[in-house]
Amino acid sequence: MTAAIGTPTRTVTLANGSEVAALGQGTWHVGDHRDTHDSEALALRRGAADGMTLIDTAEMYGNGRSERLIGDALAGRLLDAPDAEPLDRDQLHIVSKVLPNHAGEPDIFYSCDDSLEALGTDHLDLYLLHWRGGVPLRETVRCMEELVEEGKIGAWGVSNFDTDDMEELWRIPEGRHCQVNEVLYHPGSLGIEYDLLPWMREHDVALMAYCPLAQAGTLRRGLFSSPELAEVARRHGATVPQVILAWDIRDGHTIAIPKSSTPEHAAENAAAARIELDDDDLALISRAWSAPSHKVPLDVQ
Ligand code: NAP
Repeated sequence: MTAAIGTPTRTVTLANGSEVAALGQGTWHVGDHRDTHDSEALALRRGAADGMTLIDTAEMYGNGRSERLIGDALAGRLLDAPDAEPLDRDQLHIVSKVLPNHAGEPDIFYSCDDSLEALGTDHLDLYLLHWRGGVPLRETVRCMEELVEEGKIGAWGVSNFDTDDMEELWRIPEGRHCQVNEVLYHPGSLGIEYDLLPWMREHDVALMAYCPLAQAGTLRRGLFSSPELAEVARRHGATVPQVILAWDIRDGHTIAIPKSSTPEHAAENAAAARIELDDDDLALISRAWSAPSHKVPLDVQ
């Protein structure tokens, strides 16, 4: 028996044809504390039950503790209920990231194996280069392709790549197998709309939006208390975080990965996939937050 996993309300189709949930789950700082182990694992299980079937993690997060917590959530290893039903791995889309200093030969192969072991799975659906470092891109691409051939990863992508990085990647023939670029994006951080996002649309690279809630508004003062977002939330009988998430995934090509530590937040976030913002809503939001008319440095966390 496996625990129920929900069908995603909205999906994004990657360039390789795989369909993934538009609303997934982030896990930065998840797994850091033993006393929140079960609440965090239950949040991931609630999110999966409600259709947030993509889970984003990284070897960096808590030095593997986040991956191990996800492994526990998948296996049903809760401290208070060690024999909970496992989740059906095949219905999940698991994404992890390799650190830049491990992104070459032979380290990336050890890193990937460590991530698989911590997660308790035999493959990752997506493996991302966390950000650019000293290892030549060409070498990382070659290793990623080898991992695909070995069946350890389904596909690969990058994170924190700006337009010039993507152009460099595209000059490597197999670099064009890159499926996603995971970058910071929320209504109060629109710099990528100037040139990176159009470039990604043109080259069919999906956006994975990180910090999609601006870390509960702490990254952009006024976001959670914005009257415009409050008005749109009122129109939809929704909460401000739900409107922000609906805004993040509004174009059908963006995957947003909010992190929640409680099943209540996970359920609230999953329900955001049912909110369709109309032109009036989007116009109101863009009155408060609009894209720059010039190039700005990539926003990072
Ligand atoms: P985030 O998802 O924007 O915000 C997380 C914060 O929002 C937490 O404090 C959470 O509280 C709160 N929250 C969640 N749902 C809420 C709700 N419905 N109502 C009110 N508050 C809510 O920030 P993030 O975790 O930094 O980013 C998301 C994910 O992106 C990360 O977890 C990670 O997987 C990924 N990421 C990637 C990179 C990269 O370089 N590739 C960088 C940063 C993040 P609770 O925890 O109490 O629920």
